[in-house]
Amino acid sequence: MELEIRSLIKNYGKKQALKGLSVTLTEGVYGFLGPNGAGKSTFMNILTGNLKATSGQIFYNGEDIGKLGREFRGVLGYMPQQQALYPNFTAAGFLSYMAALRDMKKERAKKRIPEVLSQVGLSEVAGDKIRSFSGGMKQRLLIAQAVLDEPKILVLDEPTAGLDPKQRIAIRNLISEMAAGKIVLIATHVVTDVESVANRILLIREGELLADSSREELTASL
Ligand code: ADP
Ligand code: ADP
Repeated sequence: MELEIRSLIKNYGKKQALKGLSVTLTEGVYGFLGPNGAGKSTFMNILTGNLKATSGQIFYNGEDIGKLGREFRGVLGYMPQQQALYPNFTAAGFLSYMAALRDMKKERAKKRIPEVLSQVGLSEVAGDKIRSFSGGMKQRLLIAQAVLDEPKILVLDEPTAGLDPKQRIAIRNLISEMAAGKIVLIATHVVTDVESVANRILLIREGELLADSSREELTASL
């Protein structure tokens, strides 16, 4: 499995948010680390098909994701930031809604929803409304949603934002457990989010890849 990002450029008017980003990812966990404004959201939006690159391409196993279209979105799981949750849904109801949006077969959704709720430790509150959930529970539900359709590529946007240290550790452990056999991309500005989980750290700033290092190399340089 391989995801190749080749010379990706994104301009917003005169502002160049991505300046020719190139990197090839294989199975493993990647920290996409950079300060606000680095271009992380822009990149994730292009990957998920929500935004068109100005130029450059992304290839999944050698095929342009633009040409793969729905087929590529089928192997991609995306965990957005918390705003994306609907407070009046129950946890199970939210997952059922997300399954329908993804065109998952009813039978498969029925089987997968309890599985993922159990994986993220939310079985007991499956019927509770999201508005009653803590920040950590909401993050875990968003992870459940992202892995519902058993994606090959898992993209997580600031997965521990707004959490206390204990919850952060729980989320990191959960990500490690879910990572087997996948390409996992964790976008964050928080070093501790990725230093214990990621195999490789991609440092991005002002739309450019500053460094591509193993976790050991990064830890040694801090
Ligand atoms: P990050 O997610 O790392 O915070 P973004 O991808 O959101 O970075 O932003 C990268 C740069 O592009 C920033 O300078 C940001 O202000 C700018 N930008 C993002 N979206 C837009 C937009 N829709 N219009 C203009 N500039 C944008
Ligand atoms: P994030 O924290 O995920 O980077 P932001 O809060 O920066 O997201 O951006 C929220 C939305 O505003 C995004 O859709 C982004 O593309 C857009 N945006 C960011 N910066 C600008 C900008 N300078 N001009 C216009 N839109 C922007």
